[in-house]
Amino acid sequence: MTEAQQKAASNKVLCTVSRISPLTPTVQQVILTPKAPVEFKAGQYLQIYLSDTDKRPFSIACAPGFSCDGQPALELQIGGAVTDAYASQALAHLTEHLNAGSEVLVQVGLGEAFWREESPRPIILLAGGTGFSYVHSIASAIANADIKRPVQLYWGLRHSQAGYAEAELAAWQAAHPEYQLHMVVQEPGADWQGRTGFVHQAVLDDHANLAGFDIYIAGPFAMVGVVRDAFLAQGAVREQMYADAFAWL
Ligand SMILES: Cc1cc2nc3c(=O)[nH]c(=O)nc-3n(C[C@H](O)[C@H](O)[C@H](O)COP(=O)(O)OP(=O)(O)OC[C@H]3O[C@@H](n4cnc5c(N)ncnc54)[C@H](O)[C@@H]3O)c2cc1C
Repeated sequence: MTEAQQKAASNKVLCTVSRISPLTPTVQQVILTPKAPVEFKAGQYLQIYLSDTDKRPFSIACAPGFSCDGQPALELQIGGAVTDAYASQALAHLTEHLNAGSEVLVQVGLGEAFWREESPRPIILLAGGTGFSYVHSIASAIANADIKRPVQLYWGLRHSQAGYAEAELAAWQAAHPEYQLHMVVQEPGADWQGRTGFVHQAVLDDHANLAGFDIYIAGPFAMVGVVRDAFLAQGAVREQMYADAFAWL
């Protein structure tokens, strides 16, 4: 067991479900208020216990130190495809506890794909769909730390209407001279004038050699597998690529 795994094992906490509100018609922002202090790093995930045997991992969308209504809190962004039972069952569980005013059990501070703050390398943050939750945590931490290392955030969406967090995306860009945002839409409508296709292809098109970057990745499993192989073939260094989904592939 790594040191991080040992710490996470003791990091179980009951949380009040303080709020569930829509970010888009299919993605919900969930605010949990822990009953005891919790520790985590930007880019880690938590597991929600739906039962003793059914635990579901979700990225913690906020940076450490986040608070809501004056209370230390945890933010999640859950959803995506309407047919996604993985997310909708977790949301139903959280909604039930919100309505009952009861607490859910979560385990916080999981995963090894956390932000390496001390690294001097430029950063690529790559999100597919609700993988943005993971990227949101790291981008928030970078903004809080006021780090001016080059950051390129790529967010791939199936449709242009699937995006959210416009105010934060604009604020991160305005505050950081070497920060670039690339939105990439897979199935564009007539309203979309920007980049199109799979989001990782935009990274490959922009960077002939990925060796110099720290690369943080989250999204559907099918995407993460494709990205790992394509980026390694274009020079990315395996030890500088971070994605908790690698452990499931
Ligand atoms: C540790 C962990 C944490 C998780 N955290 C969350 C969370 O916080 N919130 C949540 O809702 N779910 C989470 N999940 C579940 C899972 O990651 C989501 O179900 C997934 O991200 C949903 O993606 P989507 O439907 O929004 O993406 P989609 O809309 O299916 O795709 C978005 C984009 O990804 C790219 N893409 C998709 N498929 C491919 C492909 N085959 N090849 C190349 N590119 C592709 C494209 O650019 C596409 O536009 C987590 C899972 C794990 C294991």
